[in-house]
Amino acid sequence: MNYSDGERIASVLNDLGYTQTNDDTKADLIIVIACSVKQSAIDRVYGRIKNWNKIKETRPLIIAITGCLLPNDKPMMEEKFDLAFDISELSQLPSLLKAKKDDFKNIKNYFDIHPIPKSSFQVYIPIMTGCNNFCTYCAVPYTRGREKSRASKDILAEIKTYIDKGYKEITLLGQNVNSYGNDLDGEIKFPELLKQVNDIPGNFWLRFMTSHPKDMSDELIDIMKTGDKICDYLHLPVQAGDDKVLQKMNRKYTIKHYKSLIKKVRKAIPNISISTDTIVGFPTETKWQFYKTKRLYKQMQYDMAYISKYSPRIGTVSAKLEDNINLDEKKRREKSLTKIVKKSGLKHNKVLLNTIQTILVEEYDGKYIIGKTRSAKAIKALSRNDLTGHFIDIIITDIQPFSLSGKIKEASD
Ligand code: SAM
Ligand code: SF4
Repeated sequence: MNYSDGERIASVLNDLGYTQTNDDTKADLIIVIACSVKQSAIDRVYGRIKNWNKIKETRPLIIAITGCLLPNDKPMMEEKFDLAFDISELSQLPSLLKAKKDDFKNIKNYFDIHPIPKSSFQVYIPIMTGCNNFCTYCAVPYTRGREKSRASKDILAEIKTYIDKGYKEITLLGQNVNSYGNDLDGEIKFPELLKQVNDIPGNFWLRFMTSHPKDMSDELIDIMKTGDKICDYLHLPVQAGDDKVLQKMNRKYTIKHYKSLIKKVRKAIPNISISTDTIVGFPTETKWQFYKTKRLYKQMQYDMAYISKYSPRIGTVSAKLEDNINLDEKKRREKSLTKIVKKSGLKHNKVLLNTIQTILVEEYDGKYIIGKTRSAKAIKALSRNDLTGHFIDIIITDIQPFSLSGKIKEASD
């Protein structure tokens, strides 16, 4: 989501006459897209401010912050930054920067701002913002507000323009894509939207995230199975392996339900690659409850997992609970899940040895092309040429738990 925010901010600033630089020391304006979801992200932002303040001593520089800002973090941000604004107020940025332009008069909301994609072949399309789920640990419903879906006709029209320009990978974004359309009268639901995007003629891959297990339907699994452009990759956050912990997190599903979803998905799409999110050390999580998460990891055989150590976010429900698991124990739990997922990742990747895999090349470092397969496996291969933005076939010669290496077979597009 932050990536997509960045593209929209770039669009607003572009219209104001700003150009982009990667060099802090040359910037007239720095906008931080923060994530209050995790304390570590906020700490990193505070660390960089010191350097920017030094620049400000020598010349004018505006430092602004936006993104996922918790109401409680905002006063502190307002103190440290020249400007702190909610991402939903992006349309007011020009006036906030005291540079009103006529073009911005009619902009009503976030979705009306057309982003400038950083890439010429991959694009992230937010289909909704906000979240109604109020998982007890999570800041998103407070920072991004309630779910707001975007009209499907606008989404489809935007995607068509990218496909006409030759874009090769479209990723539909939302905190819970499975509840897309629930807030709009007469709007199609997510499986139908996914199908309609899939049916747009063109040579492209289609991804989406994130799916909430409580809302994932058989109809969606069916579309995933039949849609020829839909990538065989699913990110399905589980968060914890114990029903009582899930209840305390307000996740609204049981492990039995979660397992049945994974079983259905694997049956429908046998080569699918599956990843998850997990929080370790949620308040009161016992060793036995954590053991159940470990057991679940072994059963699910994930390809990849994003494991977070619990950190209380002020204003959320769980922040009122005592953060009773110490940091060392959280690190230990994180390490032990990482060990399991490394094993299952390696096992899945072993099957790919000596096979030919197509990647969409995302970058070239002068020596290697690096890209991802349809199943989101990162692969690198030696190349004399920069093949960024092309579909390329790779013969897999070496594997690691979360990445692979190989040699180029031939260009396939
Ligand atoms: N909407 C997605 C879902 O339903 O799982 C997740 C979005 S959340 C912004 C991204 C991930 O950050 C979560 O899946 C969770 O694992 C992690 N996270 C959120 N709040 C956290 C907290 N207070 N402490 C640690 N990790 C947290
Ligand atoms: Fe946060 Fe839960 Fe919404 Fe995901 S579903 S954004 S974890 S509140």
